[in-house]
Formats: sequence, C-alpha cells, structure tokens
Amino acid sequence: NLTERLQSVFKNLRGKKKISENDVLEITKEIRVALLEADVALPVVKKFIRNIRERAIGVEVSEALNPAQQVISIVNEELTKILGGGESELLKSPKIPTIIMMVGLQGAGKTTFAGKLAKKLKEEQNARPLMIAADVYRPAAVEQLKTLGMQLDIPVYEEGTSENPVNIVSRGLKKAADERKDYVLIDTAGRLEIDDKLMNELQEIKAIAAPTEILLVVDAMTGQVAAQVAKTFDEKLDITGVIITKLDGDTRGGAALSIREITGKPIKFTGTGEKLTDLEVFYPERMSSRILGMGDMLTLIEKAQAQFDEEQSAKLAEKMAENRFDFEDFVEQLDQVQSMGPMDEIMKMIPGFSQMPGIDKVKVDPKDIARKRAMVLSMTPKERHLEAELSPARRRRIASGSGNSFIEVNKFIKQFNQSKDMMQGMMNGDMNAMMSKMMG
Ligand code: GDP
Ligand code: MG
Repeated sequence: NLTERLQSVFKNLRGKKKISENDVLEITKEIRVALLEADVALPVVKKFIRNIRERAIGVEVSEALNPAQQVISIVNEELTKILGGGESELLKSPKIPTIIMMVGLQGAGKTTFAGKLAKKLKEEQNARPLMIAADVYRPAAVEQLKTLGMQLDIPVYEEGTSENPVNIVSRGLKKAADERKDYVLIDTAGRLEIDDKLMNELQEIKAIAAPTEILLVVDAMTGQVAAQVAKTFDEKLDITGVIITKLDGDTRGGAALSIREITGKPIKFTGTGEKLTDLEVFYPERMSSRILGMGDMLTLIEKAQAQFDEEQSAKLAEKMAENRFDFEDFVEQLDQVQSMGPMDEIMKMIPGFSQMPGIDKVKVDPKDIARKRAMVLSMTPKERHLEAELSPARRRRIASGSGNSFIEVNKFIKQFNQSKDMMQGMMNGDMNAMMSKMMG
C-alpha cells in the first residue's frame, strides 16, 4: 500500500533543509500510484501530479514541518482545491417550489438519496417536500419511493407504471403548486448503461420541470466508470451537482476527484449507508484525506521523524560520552527541543533520561531558550567549542553582545557546566551522582 511504499521516500527526505527535484519526483511517483489505485482517471492523475511537481520543487522546508510532511501538505491542499475547496450548498429557488431532479444509472442510489434528502429538508428546514415517482420502468421503483414516503411521512406523487414519465412529472408539479409545496424531488429512471432513449426522456423532464438542481447520483464503487458517466450526463443535461453514494465501503473515493475534475461540477453530498440518516455534506478536505490515506501517512511521517530524532540523539550522546559536548551542540539541542514542544532542554535528548519520573513536567520557557541562544551566538567559535577559557572579560563581552546581564551569563555558563557534568555522570552510568546534583 501507499504507506509502505512511501516509507523509503520519507527516509531520504529526513533532515533535509530543502526539497530537491528528485525528492519531489520520488514522492509524487508514489502518490501517482496511490491515486490510480483509488481509481482516479489517468488524465486527471497526470494533470494533478504535474501541478504538485511545479509547486513542491525547491520549496524551503518550514521550521515546523519536515520535508515529507510539507510535500504531503501541498498534495493535500491541491487535492482539496480540486475537490471544490469548501462545501457546496444546495441551491434554492427564489420562488417555491425548489425543484430537484435526481439522475443517474440504475442502482446508483437515486431513490435512496431522494428519501435521505427529503428527510433532511423536512427536519432541518421544516420543509414540506413532495416526491414524484418518475421511474416507470421497474414496478418496484414506484413502490420503493412510496415506502420511503410512508416512513418519512412525506407525500409521494405517483401514477403507477403505465403512464409517460414526462406527463407524470408535469401533473406532479401542478399538484405541488396547488399545495404550495416548497420542494419537489423528482426520482427518475436509470439504465444499466447510458442510452439515448433515457437521455431524451431526462431532457424532456428537464425541459418541463426547469429544475433548480439536477443532481447526478453516482456509485463510488464504480470508480472510473463513474467519471465517464458523469461526463456524458453533464454534456446531455448540464447537471448542477453530484452525489457520491456508497462511500461506506472501503473504496478510497477516487471517483470524486475524477468527476470533479472532468465536469467541474460541485459534489454536494455523500451517501454512507443504506439507512435514511446515512447522508453527509461533502467536505473536500475529508475526501482528500480519504483518497490519500492521510491518516496512515501522517502516522508514518511521525514515525520517520521520531527515528530521525533518535539518530541525532545518538550522535549527541556519543559526544557527551566523550565529553565533546559544547555550546554549539547545546544550541542545536535547544532547536530540536523547541520543535518538539515543552520538555526540559537537554534532558529529553539523553537516551533513557526521558523515562525519569517527573521529567515531562519540567517546562521550557521559549523566552529563556531565545536568551540562551543569543548568548551562544555572541560567543566566538573558540568559546563555543570550549577552546577558550571564559574569563570575566569575555563573559562581559558576551553579556553586552547578547543583551543580557553579566550575572545571567554567569548563571547560564554554570548551568551548562552542570548539565555537562550530569550527562557525563549519566554516560558513565553514575545515576546516583546525577540524581543528587539534580536535586541540588
Ligand atoms: P437507484 O436505482 O439509483 O434508485 O438506486 P437505489 O436508491 O434503489 O439504491 C440501490 C441500492 O443501493 C439499494 O440497495 C440501496 O439500499 C443501496 N444504497 C443506496 N445508497 C447507498 C449508500 O450510500 N451506501 C450503501 N451501502 N448502499 C446504498
Ligand atoms: Mg430508483
């Protein structure tokens, strides 16, 4: 899966300051496969990957994120953008009724969605919808809608299966007008495949109903087929929005991306089950995460990062053991600790130390870190590497250079030496000495 494939890519990205062209190439190669596996149409994938490459190459790595996280966040952002950015509201006609027509292939979930939407409108807007049964090709279809209507206590206009659907819709609309209904939901017929007869019928219904919304209902599990279906329906009917059903399965939802990219029409809702409550507003960001398998990916990145920190810690531990730990290492640690969050400065970095009771309660003050960093920066390289005695004159110079008092500099140096001793003690396994020093 994607997570495993990206593992090696992330390894290479660890610790880098800038994302190289090759890094981006590697990571987008994997994302390309992920998108194809999520059943996104090839031309859509190609275009998308091209965008990502342009955006990601040469990006400076921010302080807060590592390069892998950064590439992923660019991918996520772009994906979210293609999927529509934000949520897309159901359109409402300025005068009642708002007419909504469901279209789509047989079994996509049109009738079920009509029921779900009617329920939602009734409950959330106190609306009084009328549903029209315009699928006359399967006797069960009319019954299905009638049953839903009964369950929801929402009226259904039907004339059985022997009438022409266009006439049924026309009479249904008249009834809705007479009864001053605020919404009309037209449930139309589908076919197993697109055919001209069906399209003609839908075009006729569209012509007499002049719907505010023509919602194409597609089954997420049909993947690439869904994209092709969406294209044709949009060409013939100029749909206003898309409903993606059956997202409760384990499909990654790549159809959403293809459909959106191919038709440019907003996805409005998703179906997440057979029950009438299984309807969700479509959120592009969530879909993006789903397509990418974002949850898995973020966990992976964290793991890679932890491993990176471990390697750095090991390097520092070695220095400590050999008593080569100097002011520059100290600053490097401060930076690491700062990016890790509140923890005691040096402590956390020492292998084994983090398990000490109470250590996580020691807080780091960012201002204090900044002050210490300034003092180290005011030292000469020799001073930083402990190659020059820090005489009172030098300390005074460091104090004025860093905007601190002489006393503060003395305090800092004393603290540094104590930590160093402590580390030394610990490296030698002398826990008692260290504990007694810590306790003061
Ligand atoms: P239509 O032919 O387009 O009207 O499709 P239906 O509404 O009759 O739905 C076809 C089948 O899909 C039915 O068994 C529904 O219960 C089921 N279905 C519809 N929407 C969903 C969904 O979001 N999730 C799941 N799991 N099943 C759904
Ligand atoms: Mg149906």
